[in-house]
Amino acid sequence: MSYNFFVKSNINFGTGAVAVLPELLGKYGLDKIMLVYDGGVKAAGIAEKVIGQIEKAKVSYVVFDGVIPNPTNEVVERAAELAKKEKVEGFVAVGGGSSIDTAKAVNVLMTNPGSIGEYGGMNMVKNPCLPLIAVPTTAGTSSEITNVSALIDTEKIVKYVVIDDNIVASDVIADPEFTKTAPAGVTAATGMDAITHAVESYISNMASPLTKYNSIKGLEILYHHVERAVENGADMEAREQMMLGCIITGFGFSNANLGLVHAIAHTLSAHFGLAHGMANACVLPYVTAFNSEAVPEAMTELARAVGLETGNDIEKDRLLLSDALLALTKKLKIKTLSEQGIERKDFDMLAEDVLKEPVLGFNPRQGVTKQDIIAILEQAY
Ligand SMILES: [Zn+2]
Repeated sequence: MSYNFFVKSNINFGTGAVAVLPELLGKYGLDKIMLVYDGGVKAAGIAEKVIGQIEKAKVSYVVFDGVIPNPTNEVVERAAELAKKEKVEGFVAVGGGSSIDTAKAVNVLMTNPGSIGEYGGMNMVKNPCLPLIAVPTTAGTSSEITNVSALIDTEKIVKYVVIDDNIVASDVIADPEFTKTAPAGVTAATGMDAITHAVESYISNMASPLTKYNSIKGLEILYHHVERAVENGADMEAREQMMLGCIITGFGFSNANLGLVHAIAHTLSAHFGLAHGMANACVLPYVTAFNSEAVPEAMTELARAVGLETGNDIEKDRLLLSDALLALTKKLKIKTLSEQGIERKDFDMLAEDVLKEPVLGFNPRQGVTKQDIIAILEQAY
């Protein structure tokens, strides 16, 4: 049996890595770029540092700072209109997943016809995109190295994904210093998103030895550093390890895909605007327990990887990880569904929509029913 494992990114990792930006811009010979970021990045003074480097490169730039959490088709179209009008030749995206996903989607429209909604699904982007340099400011989505852009279709009320190797950022500047200002709540939610990626990709029915190696190592690193990064944002060793774990995990899930946790989280974000990481985190322990029935050995391997003591009883061992993840979410003050404003009356509608999520096809436990999903939502309530 053969399998494919795709890696494209040129990664510059470590404190001060932003200094390579002028050289990267020079490599592509760009005259004008679009800088994409959100209000948080601006407030933290990170945008200024990046602009300083762009100016050193003597490259002109136009700013799009209208990025929103859970970016929509409308935001992408608006930014693309500006980018085309300004005739930009490349992008620098600074921020969390929302900024980088927005830039990836805008980039699709620079070299491909039509509107962004036409590119949902896998391998729909026919033409290569312009150079895109990703500068992450959170350790969570791994958007800086993945072939995924997650967007909200506000008309269909659905979160959909563009998955295509053409949209991967050409270069990454991963500077842990840029994650230092992320507040504890954001660090917890994005960190749990990364942990969710590691768990879901390891047990995905598309997992291969190469993806599993990345997913399990990523989980080990993330699990051991997330509490430290949340408790003390200035703990630079923890920040660096979170960023490292996130990139390693990204190589795994970019190739192996995700599962039921993300199916539920996408639906919650599409209908009620829940932050992606928080939506994943509050259902992760329960979905992990649910899936462990289908993949007890894999769950035991993950439990061992994070240092949990396994015995010889697979029925007990398979639940060690889900129990530990529940304890971790409590320590990190992850909110329950009710605390995030979700009401029981919507469970039925949510469960119907979760069943329509394409990502469910990669979940190791197949035949998931509406009742199964409602039971999980009930546990997370
Ligand atoms: Zn995610």
